[in-house]
This record gives sequence, C-alpha cells and structure tokens, in this order.
Amino acid sequence: MEIKRKISKRYSNGEITVIWQPHLCIHSGLCAAGLPKVFDPSRRPWVDPQAAGTIEIRNQVIMCPSGALTLDPPPKLEDLKRKSE
Ligand code: SF4
Repeated sequence: MEIKRKISKRYSNGEITVIWQPHLCIHSGLCAAGLPKVFDPSRRPWVDPQAAGTIEIRNQVIMCPSGALTLDPPPKLEDLKRKSE
C-alpha cells in the first residue's frame, strides 16, 4: 500500500505565498496550463512565484480543483466574487 506523506511546500513572492500539498494534488494540469510561467512541473522548484503578479497567481490558485494549491493570506471573498464575474 502506498502511503502519501502529508507535507506542504511554500513559495512566496514577498506579498503572497503559494502553498502546495502534494498528497492532495490530482494532477489535473490546470495550474500548468493556465499559468505555465509560474507552474512548471518540469522545473525544480516547480512553482516560481516571482514569474507573475500576485493577482495572476491568486486567480490561478483558486482554480485548483483539489485544494492542493492554497494561498497565504487566503483570498478575500470580494476577490473570489471578482474572479467569477
Ligand atoms: S491545479 Fe491543483 S490538482 Fe491540478 S495539477 Fe495543479 S496543484 Fe495539482
């Protein structure tokens, strides 16, 4: 039986931190397709939070279908509403 360790990795641009929990990732590829300059699975580290603006990163992270990507600080409700408009 495969045991997935519950670790989390943090990638900060000084303004916002992307948190990645690999055990939750379902490898949908949405993040890499949507913002490849930040999320590149062929690169180490695979998340480069300096490669795009905070709003662009936030808007991509909130699309993660599994919750493997989250933000610190978390997005505000008005940010989520703005994204869905
Ligand atoms: S969008 Fe989320 S679930 Fe999909 S590959 Fe990226 S981190 Fe994994």
